[in-house]
Amino acid sequence: MDRIYMALLFLMIIPILICMKYARKIKSDVASSIVRCLIFAIITILSNGFFAFSGNETFAYLMEALYLFSFDMVLIYILQYSQQYTRVFNEVSYIRTGSFLLAYLDGISLFANTAFHHVFTLKNVRYVSFQMYHIGTKHIFYHLHYIFAYCLVFCIIASFVTKIMQIPAFYRKKYVPILAVVCVIIVLNLICNISGFPLDLSLPFFVFAAILICYLTLYRSPKELIDKTLSIVVTEMNNMVICFDINNECVYANDRAKELFRNSAVGLSDVSEYAKDWIEEHDIANRDSLEWSDQKTIDDQVHYFDIEYRKLFDQKKEYIGFFLNLIDNTEKHLALEQERYLANHDTLTGLYNKNYFAVRSAEILRDHPDEEWLLLSSNIKDFKLINDLFGMEKGNEALKMEADLLKERCHEGIAYGRIGGDKFAICMPKARFQEQAFIDAIQAMGHAFNNDLYHLHIYIGVYEITDIHEDISIMCDKANLAIKTLNENYARSIAYYNDTILNDTILEKQLVGDFDQALDEKQFCMYLQPQMTPEGRMLGAEALVRWQHPKRGLIFPGDFIEVFEKTGLIYRLDRFIWELAVQKLAQWQQEGHSDLYISVNISTKDFYYMDVYKTITALVEKYRIIPSTLKLEITETAIMSGTAGELERIEQFRKYGFQVEIDDFGSGYSSFNTLKDMDVDVLKIDMGFLRTTKPENLEKSMSIVNMIISLSKTLGLSVVTEGVETKEQVAKLTQMGCGVYQGYYFSKPIPVEEFEERYL
Ligand code: C2E
Ligand code: CA
Ligand code: CA
Repeated sequence: MDRIYMALLFLMIIPILICMKYARKIKSDVASSIVRCLIFAIITILSNGFFAFSGNETFAYLMEALYLFSFDMVLIYILQYSQQYTRVFNEVSYIRTGSFLLAYLDGISLFANTAFHHVFTLKNVRYVSFQMYHIGTKHIFYHLHYIFAYCLVFCIIASFVTKIMQIPAFYRKKYVPILAVVCVIIVLNLICNISGFPLDLSLPFFVFAAILICYLTLYRSPKELIDKTLSIVVTEMNNMVICFDINNECVYANDRAKELFRNSAVGLSDVSEYAKDWIEEHDIANRDSLEWSDQKTIDDQVHYFDIEYRKLFDQKKEYIGFFLNLIDNTEKHLALEQERYLANHDTLTGLYNKNYFAVRSAEILRDHPDEEWLLLSSNIKDFKLINDLFGMEKGNEALKMEADLLKERCHEGIAYGRIGGDKFAICMPKARFQEQAFIDAIQAMGHAFNNDLYHLHIYIGVYEITDIHEDISIMCDKANLAIKTLNENYARSIAYYNDTILNDTILEKQLVGDFDQALDEKQFCMYLQPQMTPEGRMLGAEALVRWQHPKRGLIFPGDFIEVFEKTGLIYRLDRFIWELAVQKLAQWQQEGHSDLYISVNISTKDFYYMDVYKTITALVEKYRIIPSTLKLEITETAIMSGTAGELERIEQFRKYGFQVEIDDFGSGYSSFNTLKDMDVDVLKIDMGFLRTTKPENLEKSMSIVNMIISLSKTLGLSVVTEGVETKEQVAKLTQMGCGVYQGYYFSKPIPVEEFEERYL
């Protein structure tokens, strides 16, 4: 019998050895704890067998000591394993060190018991027909050994129970079986211990424990666990997963997929309907996998998908169906589209913005290099005025109106956009451009927007593209330059770019750039043109500026005054010339020529940039001149475009003692209105009346001059005729009653020194 029992014990050891071999292959703390535990489990099993059936009492004592000690070690390693496996109390290292220490002390005491019998004594008894050893008297050390062992058991159970309570039911399967088999071992061991049965009936369960521990800890998570995890992942993931069988029928759709199709589809059958389109479109039947992006309208809403298709094969590589993995990118896509739209479009009008207009135009030009192209740019006359007079709202309305006009008329193959403020641009084939159509459209818009205070007018600059690779913004600039040549004229709407315009612009830019230095270095000088009586007596002079340019030589005001007016520099130049004139008057007056006067020009723009009145009176006071010797020439446009306040200013000038002259009288629109609205001292008749080309017109213009002269007499104004070049002109005008002349007949404008030499 004892042989059979021992053979059974050895048989039990085989599975444990196999588990050990397996665990040794795995390099981890848990695995090494398991290996050590299994070594001691084998020792425990064998020592228990040898103890029970040993024939020698000393040997029995040794075996029982070995059995009890190795059982301690089994428990210690199970505890170590359970701490590592459950991660409960894992960090509490003194449990481990403390238990090893106690186990070694216990071991010493147990082995010493062979000699001293202080732990337990043995007695040989007969069970049924077998002679066996079994524990006789139990001393205090024996009980201490068991208390220690049950403490270890308690810790093991505690760590498992704690773990089991902490985790979801789903994971308990990894712990409960191990706890159960440990409990069975403990209970059986306890029963044997209390009953005094010499064989430890818990030992066969060591085998179950070893297998379970190795399987659950080292081999893998239970398949069910993986299946469950995966199915949750698939069901709840954000992608839509739809699986189909070999007949292309949908067999599974996860929650997201159902949610998307739920409102539109009844059950899974309709999902198949959607998928069928894809299957056909992409010829998926003939491929193993494919990825593509697509959009589908589901319940009137467009969805953007990234789609992955993959065929499914079983282990034998037989085709069993396929799945679609859909990522709904709609939100991302729309956000991106919105972002792209905002980056490329003007929010007010919805047209392309400047950058995108350039991009689109460049594309169109590149795609049709053989065609002739135009770039048109538009500008609303005095757009700022709309905003100032009627508010932003109305200004926006005008812009939208123009944008609508463009949308209506520009079709396929034409790029157009709002390139800034009130500027729109069009890039179109020359063959499709009809000037009259544009003029009509401008007029139509003018009518739609007009009111008493403001007349809407649009200017268009046309640039014929010569090099399609030129920067679009440069093309726009060129079209805009053409607009500038229209000079804010209501009668014209369209101007064409040519190279002279560009050269002029470049020249203007250079002049503006040179201005500061020129003023500092006194490159500007005053020329004087005498005003004479018909008999040739000099009464005074007009101060006219000249620019002695270091590189360009003498430049006449016709080449720079307008530029400086546009760029706001004119007031600095005028102030400079006025000072020269006042200085000269002061000098003359000191020299006894107090009757001589100088007329200075005041530009319309001077009133914007400075207090003309203050500036001039300050000069008069600084140089102490007689105010009436300084005459102020103001053009009628300056007077007419001025506000009531400015008209008052002019009145102030007269009160101060200056003589105010209307320059170029008769050249503007409202010459006679000017006279009605304000008092002046002198009319300077515009040179235009003497320059008429057709003889029949000359007659008419002389009658007008005649009328102006008699009118001024009636109003008590003196008259100066400018631009007289011949003796006949002087004679005729004198006959009409004009008393003062300024013109080449008497003298061109000349440098001051020359003037003084000649006339003083
Ligand atoms: P404006 O004030 O009408 O000056 C008269 C212009 O007519 C002068 O041209 C003068 O040289 C020219 N002129 C005088 N008599 C005759 C003539 O018999 N035949 C012809 N063909 N021309 C004659 P300029 O000096 O070239 O000045 C041109 C314009 O520039 C001036 O016209 C004036 O509007 C402006 N300007 C000149 N100097 C100044 C200045 O210091 N300040 C401002 N703001 N404007 C100035
Ligand atoms: Ca003048
Ligand atoms: Ca003049």
